[in-house]
Amino acid sequence: KTWNQTGLVSKISDTIKKLNYEKPMPIQAQALPIIMSGRDCIGIAKTGSGKTLAFILPMLRHIKDQPPVAPRDGPIGLIMAPTRELVQQIHSDIKKFAKAVGVNCVPVYGGSGVAQQISELKRGAEIVVCTPGRMIDILCTSSGKITNLRRVTYLVMDEADRMFDMGFEPQITRIVQNTQPDRQTVLFSATFPRQVEILARKVLNKPVEIQV
Ligand code: AMP
Repeated sequence: KTWNQTGLVSKISDTIKKLNYEKPMPIQAQALPIIMSGRDCIGIAKTGSGKTLAFILPMLRHIKDQPPVAPRDGPIGLIMAPTRELVQQIHSDIKKFAKAVGVNCVPVYGGSGVAQQISELKRGAEIVVCTPGRMIDILCTSSGKITNLRRVTYLVMDEADRMFDMGFEPQITRIVQNTQPDRQTVLFSATFPRQVEILARKVLNKPVEIQV
């Protein structure tokens, strides 16, 4: 497959050319047409497979497809990941595209000062990438005054198996409940144990499953 066959818009494909990503990796070739079509998707893929672009690129297009509203109304795209390192990694991947596409992304994670994250959230962003624990802390302490998730229509759970191992299930469930019920949802996991399957069944709507 070529990038042209994955439904990208020109600002995104220009950035991909600059990054010298010659062709989509297998997970991207499989997942992009499905996610771009608006379907929910379960991807079984490990770190290094190229899974991050498989959920970032459709998210950027999803956001560009929405009618314009003030970013201060809360994010449209929300990504949950298990660790601070992974949140930072995803955030840096999004930043490669954010300027060209004209969107803003705020990373939210524990283990460092909350003040800067709060002020960035207050300024507003179309995308938030977070660890579930810190996100819940911020949502609860502010009762929706710092940010809220009622505009989220594109939700990603990355490394879902690790989020479970770390005990994040209650926080994940609460975050999901604060998003739009008719959202598009994408779940990536290196493994697919029963507990992740049960969560996927609750949170995703007729997902297409892919594996690399
Ligand atoms: P990930 O599994 O998402 O962490 O991606 C692994 C690495 O592959 C990252 O450093 C990406 O920048 C890089 N990458 C992602 N997509 C492509 C591609 N289509 N061609 C070459 N490298 C890529």
